[in-house]
Amino acid sequence: MIGSRIKQARRASGLSLRELADKVGISAMSISKYENGQVTPNSSILLALARALNVRVEYFFRTIQVSLHEVEYRKHAKLPKKILRQIEGDVIEQVERYMELEEILPVSPISPFVVPKGLPARVNSYDEIEHITNHIRDAWDLGRNPIQDLTGTLEERGIKIIQTNAVHDMQFDGLAAMVNGNPVIVVGSEWPGDRQRFTLAHELGHLILKERLNRKLEEETAANRFAGAFLVPAAEAYKELGRKRTWFEPRELCVLKKAYGLSMNAWLHRAHELGIINDATHLELIKYFRKLGWHKQEPCDKYSREEPQVFMQLVFHALAEDLISESKSAELLGLSITDFRAIRKVDHVKTVVNQ
Ligand SMILES: [Zn+2]
Repeated sequence: MIGSRIKQARRASGLSLRELADKVGISAMSISKYENGQVTPNSSILLALARALNVRVEYFFRTIQVSLHEVEYRKHAKLPKKILRQIEGDVIEQVERYMELEEILPVSPISPFVVPKGLPARVNSYDEIEHITNHIRDAWDLGRNPIQDLTGTLEERGIKIIQTNAVHDMQFDGLAAMVNGNPVIVVGSEWPGDRQRFTLAHELGHLILKERLNRKLEEETAANRFAGAFLVPAAEAYKELGRKRTWFEPRELCVLKKAYGLSMNAWLHRAHELGIINDATHLELIKYFRKLGWHKQEPCDKYSREEPQVFMQLVFHALAEDLISESKSAELLGLSITDFRAIRKVDHVKTVVNQ
């Protein structure tokens, strides 16, 4: 049991047997024996392993085991296996804490995820995706206005949203997967808010569309269309931009980005797929953006990042009702007791939570 936990933590940290052995100051053979369960490490070794692997000792004794299924990665082809394993390890670790907390709470205030009823069984064209996103907005009582807190909206519907900073170099956008029958969407924590929102909506698209897409449609294109349509319904896009346009002022797109949390580049794309601008204008605008470097870094204010709140809310709920201790709360949030106490004192402004 402890052995497989050590192995899981080691893989999540991206360390080889030898690298971990060097960090702890024991042989790779010993580590291998611990991982295989041939030898049980004593408490001082466990402490050293926990330090080297950047986990708490409790991690090795956790009984909940989760694994990811039906994993869908954005741009996964570019990512080395080792990095994927690190991301998966971090996600699994976070989901384990989540599920441990859910087991402690007598009644989870979050209902399980259900795909809204009445969606078509088959999607035969990209345009049909517009009806699907409108249907979902109706089923979830979202109206047609901008969705301010997308993370909270999805969490309320039973989708776990996990942010990861397992990789710092921004190679990773996000992924969707199933964990014990429940959907999880993972998003890189370091991206600007508009990019995170597009990723969240894109991954939701995968969850909703995966079994419905006609085989002649490309799933990535479909998930992107879903994201644009979910964040800005067609009717809203027409209202904001008009039916036909020959050019956009950048400032106009800045304003819309701020209102909808959709990037300026994504607005261009959205206007094109809805026929508001033609191919030639779209191309001209893309060239113009490229010339100014706006395809990489957009001008105007950054859209603030998405912040998962539900997990922390539930931890404090459990603490308030005496279901868990202060140190358990800290462990669940992945914080030292000192950092946890700082957060518990609500007048403390800066939070350091890596949920
Ligand atoms: Zn995708």
